[in-house]
Amino acid sequence: MSRHLPYFEEHTEAIPTRIAAGLHKIGLAMKQQVWQQANGEGLSATQGQILAVLVGQGPLTGKELSERLGVTLPTISDSVRVLVEKQLVTRSPDPRHPRASLLTPTDKGASLGARARSWPEFMADAVGDLSADEQRAFFAGVMKMIRSLQEQGLVPLSGMCVTCTHFRPNVRQGATPHHCALVDAPLAAEQLRLDCPEHARAPDEVRQQLWQKFLKPG
Ligand code: SF4
Repeated sequence: MSRHLPYFEEHTEAIPTRIAAGLHKIGLAMKQQVWQQANGEGLSATQGQILAVLVGQGPLTGKELSERLGVTLPTISDSVRVLVEKQLVTRSPDPRHPRASLLTPTDKGASLGARARSWPEFMADAVGDLSADEQRAFFAGVMKMIRSLQEQGLVPLSGMCVTCTHFRPNVRQGATPHHCALVDAPLAAEQLRLDCPEHARAPDEVRQQLWQKFLKPG
């Protein structure tokens, strides 16, 4: 008679540990792909990310790029200097801040930036293998994890509805319970933004209130 020892009960790490290990593998794959694709375009990964952000969000200052990408200002400045030398980015005075420069991609820089924006697409293909329910659950989990990392100061606090001053969580019943006050439009859970260019960071206390209301409707 065979004995079924609870081998895997004793030899399996907790789910959070195994999810973290899985994310680490995914992160390595992302890094490798972005490095290869940037290299193929004659750019560093940071230069590619800068062009991608400028194409997606319009002209920004070096400080704004640093905040959005979570990269130090000296690293951004070095990359921008090379991009200007390669005539992929131009500097112009920023009407909002007299001493700052706005960085704008040239035509060539914009076309490279548009291509760089598609670099994570191989990951979207992998996510496409998940069912619709799995994708929704995964999106909710990813959003909660990013928020947690943002609140710990480990990734830049920008772009997400759940930390935005315009966000109104759970204001109605039904498929679109949330609302964006900026464009005065309803939002479904799966439509929440992770990288909205119009995001306006809510103050600390308001962010906590938004999060509680988001988690506990009613
Ligand atoms: S402005 Fe953007 S981030 Fe803010 S609530 Fe509206 S869609 Fe979300």
